[in-house]
Parts: sequence; structure tokens; C-alpha cells
Amino acid sequence: MGLNSATTLHYFRNPCRLPVAMATVYTASRLAVLVAYRAPSSCCSSCGRSTRAPLPREVSSGHEPVALAKMGTRKKVQAFVRVRPTDDFAHEMIKYGEDNKSIDIHLKKDTRRGVVNNQQTDWSFKLDGVLHNASQDLVYETVAKDAVSQALDGYNGTIMCYGQTGAGKTYTMTGATENYKHRGILPRALQQVFRMIEERPTHAITVRVSYLEIYNENLFDLLSTLPYVGPSVTPMTIVENPQGIFIKGLSVHLTSQEEDAFSLLFEGETNRIIASHTMNKNSSRSHCIFTIYMEAHSRTLSDEKYITSKINLVDLAGSERLSKTGSEGRVLKEATYINKSLSFLEQAIIALGDQNRDHIPFRQSKLTHALKDSLGGNCNMVLVTNIYGEAAQLDETLSSLRFASRMKLVTTEPAINEKYDAERMVKNLEKELALLKQELAIHDSLSNRTLVNYDPMDEIQIAEINSQVRRYLEGTLDEIDIINLRQIQEVFNQFRVVLSQQEQEVETALRRKYTLIDKNDFAAISAVQKVGLMDIEGNLVGEPDGQSFGLGVAPFSVKPGKKAKTKKTPKDQFSSSARKEGASSPVSGKEFDVASVSKTQLIPSSKDGDLKDTLARERETSSIEPLISDSPKEELRAPRPSTPPSRTVAFEEFKNERGSEINRIFKENKSILNERKKRASETTQRINAIKQEIDETKEALNFQKSLREKQGEYENKGLMIIDEEEFLLILKLKDLKKQYRNEYQELRDLRAEIQYCQRLVDQCRHRLLMEFDIWYNESFMIPEDIQVALKLGSSIRPGMVPISRIVCLGEDDQDRFSHLQQTVLPEGPDSITFYNAKVKTEQKAYGSIRRAWWRAACIINALNLRRTGVDQGYDKPIRP
Ligand code: ADP
Ligand code: MG
Repeated sequence: MGLNSATTLHYFRNPCRLPVAMATVYTASRLAVLVAYRAPSSCCSSCGRSTRAPLPREVSSGHEPVALAKMGTRKKVQAFVRVRPTDDFAHEMIKYGEDNKSIDIHLKKDTRRGVVNNQQTDWSFKLDGVLHNASQDLVYETVAKDAVSQALDGYNGTIMCYGQTGAGKTYTMTGATENYKHRGILPRALQQVFRMIEERPTHAITVRVSYLEIYNENLFDLLSTLPYVGPSVTPMTIVENPQGIFIKGLSVHLTSQEEDAFSLLFEGETNRIIASHTMNKNSSRSHCIFTIYMEAHSRTLSDEKYITSKINLVDLAGSERLSKTGSEGRVLKEATYINKSLSFLEQAIIALGDQNRDHIPFRQSKLTHALKDSLGGNCNMVLVTNIYGEAAQLDETLSSLRFASRMKLVTTEPAINEKYDAERMVKNLEKELALLKQELAIHDSLSNRTLVNYDPMDEIQIAEINSQVRRYLEGTLDEIDIINLRQIQEVFNQFRVVLSQQEQEVETALRRKYTLIDKNDFAAISAVQKVGLMDIEGNLVGEPDGQSFGLGVAPFSVKPGKKAKTKKTPKDQFSSSARKEGASSPVSGKEFDVASVSKTQLIPSSKDGDLKDTLARERETSSIEPLISDSPKEELRAPRPSTPPSRTVAFEEFKNERGSEINRIFKENKSILNERKKRASETTQRINAIKQEIDETKEALNFQKSLREKQGEYENKGLMIIDEEEFLLILKLKDLKKQYRNEYQELRDLRAEIQYCQRLVDQCRHRLLMEFDIWYNESFMIPEDIQVALKLGSSIRPGMVPISRIVCLGEDDQDRFSHLQQTVLPEGPDSITFYNAKVKTEQKAYGSIRRAWWRAACIINALNLRRTGVDQGYDKPIRP
């Protein structure tokens, strides 16, 4: 859709919200200008060159896909020169190169300078194209079309008109808005944008525009007069953020069609002119930046990526030097500002062109600051230098051309501005998540894992896991069923929580008894070594048998996770071989406790050898588990009796043989516990006795005191004089109180130890009974062939499967298995759940259930055979 007469009419009819009289003035003046400066349409007679001189291919070509491939490489700023048409063209002084890409200036020597005259008279400027007598059409094609087209592909662009006042900057940039044919780059760019959007139905492209004016270093919003914008309360400021530069307070307008965009352009243009009347502001003394912002989202791909770009169309203020204007007052002030901002622009351009400069002075003026991300960088940059063709303006022309050639040195690296739409990304991820959940549900149902919840855990579930971990560490829970990844992570998490709690508890207990020295505290260590409590290797001095203070604390000098270097007893070797075989009893939490304090050395206080004794035993307790587990030696055991012995008898046998080690530890712990209890009771008795003595002494003292009061008190220099008897009673009371405190402290420590020992004893008892059960089941109850079947590929100890769970069923294989699962699965960790979970996690995804089913069928079949002695035909289940 073009800018037709209706649109033009619209402009006249609706020149924003200004009084009609004013709008008329503006309209009339613009028409007058239009008549006065109408450009000659044919060739320029003065230079004798065709106005339609062929332009280089690279600048006249339209948007090509190849251009995209070129992006990312450095390219020079494109600099063009446009000469304002004139009948008085200085063809003697201004000459264009054959290729229309250079311009030579020749000045006549100033004869007044005398015989020796070094005045330079010739200059040659290399550019990207000279536009002489070029139509607005051609100018747009040459200068702007590519940059605008690439803006739609995500590249930022800046097109800037520079030059002396009256040289044609505004004509080039905005054109004669009353005349469609003479419209400038701005309306044409808007047209191109909307046309290209129509040609790209695959993309939803939004267009926004803003129009900024910089006048005397102040920012003005040329579109603030629109009813929905409203006047700005605070002055506009230039803000930098990671996304680039933006002008806080500048209104940005969404435009869905060409016509709206034009209206905005005209609104801004009108405001610019009106301001020159109302605010006495000369429009050619301000810089104007019209920005088109684009954002393209794909309609076809649900891609979260989208591209953004902006194209700045800059109409700079006149560049003539201060001296030339001969101005004063307000005009002088304007000229000063312009000169400053343009010279800062020039400095920024020079810095951009200098590869060695890493700082570009953008913030020196509002203009360079506002254009910071549009000069150089990743933009396509085009400069149009507007010059006069007359001899009288040659000085300014020269200066403008110098600016153009400096600009040509600047290189940019255009790149697509790709962004991610967070909302769309979330939606896509949600979709993906839903799909994966469905996949998981299918997978679960195929592998018979029903009712698995994958939602984040709530506090109750976490507390339950914490309790499982605690029970596991205490040894009251043998395995933690694996449910899903989230649960596994939480189990580990809770391990850490429990571990650090236990670490703290142990450390606190130890601190009560010992002086802990940090291993890195060399001063303290050497002090201790001097006293003779520690050898040079940092080990505590003492007997390793628990009789003295250095005993059995070797793990303290071992880093957590490292195995303690202790003497290897046959039982240790046995235990390590058992571990290798995959015996899967839980590790005692105490091991964590002890290892966790390994960063410190323990220096015992005077009377605490016994606690270490306990700790040493505690370590032994932690190695109970491997002592009981299967070993190759067991293969040699005697044939089992036809009828199992009674449990009481078997228990006695177990305690003497298989369970002898754990029984010994259990007994030892018990005797320590009893001994501590005895000591505690003795201490209590002593405390009571001391208490009684204290009371008696207090009474005697009170009696002495009352006696003294009755006999009259003696004082010497303010000090009370008491007799020897009373003095001795006071001393005795003091001593008794000290004793009381010491004994009380002793009792407290003993109580803590008793509590701790009690836990050990309970734990040992439980372990002893549990191991007995397993042993009893394996030795007398579960048939050996079933044990072999249960062990297949799993680390399960057959004796852990309660005999009551090994049942025989009547229907076919599939039904039996599912029945077995249904009855056994929900009923606790000791059941086949354990077996199931283990098998499933060990075997990979899809095939696991089939293999598990096959194995279960084998077990059931073996059970049937055993029970009935009849082969029911299940001995060879069909392998899936
Ligand atoms: P500037 O913005 O550089 O001060 P303008 O664009 O306002 O200069 O141009 C001054 C006058 O010259 C305007 O009336 C404009 O119409 C006219 N003019 C400038 N360049 C051309 C051109 N190439 N063809 C026709 N008229 C022109
Ligand atoms: Mg102008």
C-alpha cells in the first residue's frame, strides 16, 4: 500500500492536535519551499554527467539471501555524497571520478598569499557513491534499501545525513512530505518494511516507532503530543542496559500498518516545525532520530528464538562552523551546541575507525550517547553527506567530505539480534514435560511400576526418607527401596543431613572429654609433642589395647572415606572378602561418626581412657556385619538335618559358631554398659554423701555464726574476725562444693556414656537376632535350590526373605506372579518388594520386567516342585 492522495489528505486534515491556524501556516510554508526548490528532473547541465549514472552493483542490489551468509564479517561503513542540485555548479572545482565513487576538489591558489604559497589546493575523496542530481527513488535504492531489508532479518541499521544547513539532509531523510514522488528515505523505509512483512506470512512481525529530537543537548519526544502518550513529568534520560541503549521517557508506538506509521511520522514532522515557531527553535539546528523497531517471531516453528532489530534514521543538525554563521545570542548558543555534539560525533567516529582504541567517547554528548549502539558495533551503517555544488560553499563542502572519508574508515560487524522468548520457552518446556511424563507413565505400566509418583516431595515424604535413612544407619532397616530418581536424590540428601548431625553429636561428646587440636594448628601440635602426648607422626602416644589413652583411635587420623590403617586380623580379611562377594548389610552409622572427626587429633584429659575404650569397641561393632555374611567357607558346611532344630537350641549354636563374633561384641558392650551403670550408681552414692556432708557443714557453720553474733563481733579495719573453727568449716564447705561439682560432672558424663552404650547394646542385640534369623532360614528353612534362584544376579541374602512369603500358588505363571506381587508388594520392606526393586533397578529399563517375571516364574516353579514333589510343568518357563 502506497502513500496515495488519501493519505496525503489525511495528513493535511489531521496535522495532529494543533490549532488549525498554525497547521495552515505550516502547510503554506512547506508548499512554498516545495515550489522554490523543486529539483531539476533531467541531467545536470553544469557537470555534463547523466543524473542516472549507473551505480555500483553492490549498492543498488536489493535484499539477497547471500547477504546473510556474509554477515558476521567486518564491513566498512558505507559513505555516499549527495550534491544539492544547482544551476551554479562549480564544475571547475568539483569533479567526480569515472566510477562515480570518488570526488576531487580543486581550489584556485589564493594569489594574495604571495610568491611562496604552500596552500593545498587539491583533495581527493574515495567514497561508495556520488549522487549527483539523483532522484529520491535512486537515493533510496542506493542508500537505504539494503539496510532496511536486512533490518527485517535481524540486523540493526543506522542511516545518517550529515552536512551544512540547506544542503539537503532533511530533503534526503524525510523529503517533501507533501509530494509523494519526493518523499525521502523515512517514508520509503516504512513502506518497504510493511511490504516485506506482507511477503513474510511465516513470521509475526511487530513494528514500533519513536521520534527523538536533540536540541541544545535536551531531549524531546516528537510524538509526545499523541493523546495516549501524555506529557512526560520527568525529563527524558538515556539509559544503558545489557540489551542496549534506550531513552527513558521516549514514547514508542506500535504500528500495525503503513498508514499508521506515516501518521506518526507526520505527527513528529509537524511537531518539529511547530516547535520552531512556538519555542523559537530552528529545526535545522537540532538532531532528529526516527527509529523503527522490529520484532519477528516465527509463526510456523514453535521456536522460542526470535529476532529484534532497529533502524535509526538520523537527520543531523547543520554542520557549518561557528565562524561561518556569524551568529550571536540564541543562535550562537545553538551553534555552539551543534558544533560540540558534531565534533563529539566526529571524535567517536575517529575512535571507532582506530583499531587500537578500546575506549570510544560516546557519553560526551546526548547525540553520541543516544546512538551508542547504533554507531559501529553490529550495525549496518550508512552515511549520506549532503553538499552544495556551488563554489561559495566549498570550504564547508571540504569539511563535510573530510567527515565522510573518516566515516569510511569505521568498520562494523553486523550480526543478527537473536533473542529468546521466555514465555514461549516455558510453554515449549511444559509441552515437553507433559510428553515425557506420558512416556514415563507408559514405561512404568510396561514395567509394572504402578502408582509411582514423580511430583516434588513434600515435607512429610522428606521426613519419612529421613527416618528411613536413620533406621538404615542404625541397622533396623536393611534396604531403602528405590522408587525414582527424585527419591534417590533425597535419600542421599538425607544421608548428608544425618551424617552432619551425627558428626556434630560426636564432636560435642568428644569435646566434653577431650581437647581437640586442629591438625593444621602446628603450634598447638608442637606444644603437645613437647609435653610428650603425641609422637612426631601425629599419633597419640599410648598402648593400642585400650589400656591407655592412645588406644584404637587410629581412624581419627584418617581422612573421611579412607580406610583406617589398622592391623589386619583374620576376621578383617574375612570381612573384606565378604564385601567383595557383595554382602549387602548396611554400614553402621558409627563409622561415619568416627571418620567424620578425623580432621582433629584427640588429646585425652586425665581420666578418660575408658571412653576411648568404648569408641574402640564401637568401631568393632561397626564391623559386625561382614563377620556374619556368606563366605566361600560356608560352602563346606555339614549337610543339613532333616528336621530343623528348635530355635532356642539353634540360637545357642549360632552364638558359639557363626554368630560368635557378634555375640562377643554384644557381651562386651553389655559388660561396658553394666560397668558404667555401676560407676554411675557409685558416683550417685558419693554425691549423696557429699551433699549430706555439705548440709551438715552448713549447719555447723550457721551455729558458729550465731554463736559469734551472740558473743559480739570483732572487727579490724573493716574486716570481720572469726575464730579458727569457723574458718576451717568455711574451708571444708568450699572443698566439699568443689568435690560435689566434680562428682556431678562425672555423673553427667557417665550418663551420656550409658546412653550411648545402651544404644550400642540394643543395636548389637538386634543385629544378633537378625543375623540369627537369616542364618536359621538359610541353614534349615529355605531349600538350597531356592536360595540359588533367589541369589541369581542379585545381592539379596536369601535368608532375609521371610519363609512365610515364599508361597505356592495355583494358577498359571503370569497370574501367580502378579498375585505374588499384589499380596507381597505393599506389605513392607522385608518382603519380595525388596527383591523386586533390586531386580528392577539392576536391570535396564524395558527388558527388566520380562526378565524379572521369568526369574520369578523359575522360583515359583521350584517352590511348587519342592512342596508337592510333582513337576507341574513350570520348570521350564518360556523365556520372554
Ligand atoms: P538541510 O536539512 O540540510 O538543512 P533541507 O533538506 O531543508 O536542508 O534542504 C533545504 C532546501 O533545499 C529544501 O527546500 C529542499 O527542498 C531543497 N533541496 C535540498 N536538496 C534537494 C534536492 N536534491 N532536490 C530538490 N530540492 C532539494
Ligand atoms: Mg534540515
